[in-house]
Formats: sequence, C-alpha cells, structure tokens
Amino acid sequence: MRNPVPDLLDELRRECAGADGGEVLDTIPELADEDPDRFGIALCTIDGTVYGTGDADHRFTIQSISKPFAYALALADRGRDTVLEHVGVEPSGDAFNEISLEQNGRPRNPMINIGAITTHALIGDPRWTLEERDARVLAGLSAFAGRTLELDEAVFESERSEASRNLALAYLVHSQGKLDGEPHDAVDGYTRQCSLLVDVRDLAVMAMTLAAGGRNSVTGEQVVPTWVCTQVLSVMATCGMYDAAGDWMSTVGIPAKSGVSGGVLGSLPGQVGIGAFSPRLDEIGSSVRGVAAFERLSAELGLHLMHAPEVASHVLYGVVEPDADGDELREVQLQGTMHFAAVEVALRQLEALPDGEPLVLDLSRVASATAVGRSLLNEAVERMRADGREVRVTDPDGVLEG
Ligand code: GLN
Repeated sequence: MRNPVPDLLDELRRECAGADGGEVLDTIPELADEDPDRFGIALCTIDGTVYGTGDADHRFTIQSISKPFAYALALADRGRDTVLEHVGVEPSGDAFNEISLEQNGRPRNPMINIGAITTHALIGDPRWTLEERDARVLAGLSAFAGRTLELDEAVFESERSEASRNLALAYLVHSQGKLDGEPHDAVDGYTRQCSLLVDVRDLAVMAMTLAAGGRNSVTGEQVVPTWVCTQVLSVMATCGMYDAAGDWMSTVGIPAKSGVSGGVLGSLPGQVGIGAFSPRLDEIGSSVRGVAAFERLSAELGLHLMHAPEVASHVLYGVVEPDADGDELREVQLQGTMHFAAVEVALRQLEALPDGEPLVLDLSRVASATAVGRSLLNEAVERMRADGREVRVTDPDGVLEG
C-alpha cells in the first residue's frame, strides 16, 4: 500500500500556496533576502516518522520559535519557582517586542522578547560564562531536534547590529531586578539562540519532543522532564502566537509558536509535531502560509486540542452475565485507556454489581492506564475483596502494575 499521508500533505501544501499576502520581515537586514515563495511543511509522529513536503529541507533561522525550548531548558536547569520569580505566564495581548511587564517588574511571559531575553539568562548555572550558556543552548536545542544545529553567523551579526530595542528591553528588566546577569550578555546570547538554523523537519521533531513529554521520538533521548513540557505547552497555548493567541487557540487549537523568519511550530500533546515555513508575514509577525497550513491541518486531520474525544463512554467493552446454573462467572471487560474519566465509568459499573457474586475483571483489551487510573482500579479491586467478593483480574499486559 502507498501511504496516503504524504499525498495528503502535498495536496494541502498546494492548496495553501495560493496565500501570497503579507511581507517578508525587513527589520533584520539579512532576513530580507529570503525567497518569499518558499513553503515547506513537515509532520513528526510519536514513533519518530517524519513526513515532509515542499521546501522541507530548506534551512532558516529559528528566531522566536527558540523561545519555548529556551524556556524548557531554564525550567529544567533552575526549577519552576526560580523561573516564575523572573518571568510570568500570562498572555500579554501585545506585540512580540513590546514592553510588557507586570506591576512587580516581571516580564509577562517567556514567549515575547522581553520575557525570552530574561528566560535566556536563566539557562544553566548562574555562575556560567556567556560561552557556557551558549553551549548549553546549542546542545539543548540540538537534543530537541535530534541533530547538531548550526549558527547562521550572518544573521546573528546582522541582528546584533540592530539590537537596540532588545537591549532596551533587557535594561528595563535589569532595572527591575529581574534579570540574572548583564543586559548585553543576555541579548547577545538570546540573539545567538534566535540565529540557529533549522528546517521544518527539525521543527516537527522538536515539537513532537514536547508533545511526547520530553522524549525525542527519533533519538529516544529524554531531553527534559515531562513536567517541563506540560508547563511549556501551557504557555505556548496561551501566549505562543503573541496578540493572536486567543484567535489561534480557537481556530487551530494546537499549542504553537511562530518566528519572524517565517517558521511556525505546533505541538499536539501525545499526537503529533508540526513545522511549517514560508517567509511572508502577517501584521502580527506570523507566516501567512504557515498559518493557513495549520488551519487546514487542524480541520482536516481533526487536531483541535479542545475537540472532545469520545473515549470515556466506550470504556465498557462488555459484561458477561453469569449463567442461571452459576457455572459461568460474571465478567466485566474494559477497553481503551484508563484515564480518570474512563475509570470513573468502570467504577460505577463495579459499584452496581450484585453483592457477593464472584467477578472476573478483564483488562486484556486495555491499552494503557494513567497513574490515577491505575491507582483507582487497584483501589476498586482491594475494596471489592475487602467486601468479601472473589475477584480475578485478567491483566496480560500488566496494566495495573504500571
Ligand atoms: N530575533 C527576533 C527578535 O528578537 C525574534 C522575534 C520573533 O521571531 N518574533 O526580534
């Protein structure tokens, strides 16, 4: 069989290629030379399969898409409390380069420049030199991508020569006592971080790593702890698309981040990582074709995070009633994933069983269980036994053992 997914992506790309509004960014001189018609899309799945279409191998600087990954490194290195002392998690509703501070002097979130520069300075150990922090950023982002990324020196120098606004933001945070280190160092490191070269395949893998709880599905490396990904994806969902974050969440429904070179990255927890690139930007600073591609992908592949899955009501595969002469046991057969809502359905079924009758709890069709699902089911088995019921559990995959 020829896999239909590549065809589907090709078709989607063709249909979105007509979107030719917007302008290539002209504030970073080196980026202004990019061919405006370039357009690539890539998708990475949980088992590390990467599909690409169009300019999927074309490299561009990561820019603001580095922000969620730098945030992940800062969280992993310094812990949630320290990072939250310096940078908030509230959507700003402002443009990416706005002066967006809370009353206590904290930048509003790590997805806008003022918060991202502050976040960059938190990576690693506070005693580290600029070079040591740069090395950690390069190694960290490379681990997310599953290959060693390179710096675009020309873009770096070009952006560094135009950095007065970012420097102003850094000095402001410094004056509020929220910047770890010196403003020049923070902006220098942040600009380097933005100048790393990626293609949409890298973005898809990086996004999938976040979506898979920190495990890179291509290399198998656990890059950051799972709690870090929960935090990063939450902030991407509320703040990732700048002042269009609410509109994006309601139409596309995928935690995402865009960058001024034309990249867009989307990360759907547990399912898929997506990268798109096309240099023409809308007035908010996001790729016009990239946004169009995400809108289509979300609608056609059913990727909206808030679309309610029909799982819980199907938890009961069947109930075998005991024979009248009693030679067959009552059997409750569960299926699917035992998360809280699914187990709750099963618990009520177990609660309603006639007293005393022996029971077989059949979990052979259960795919997996969350921690709470496992503990509630174990608790139910214990309680039934404490009530004097004979309970046999069929659990060939050891779902209840975790
Ligand atoms: N390096 C860019 C800047 O700091 C990143 C901005 C962006 O991609 N939105 O201005």
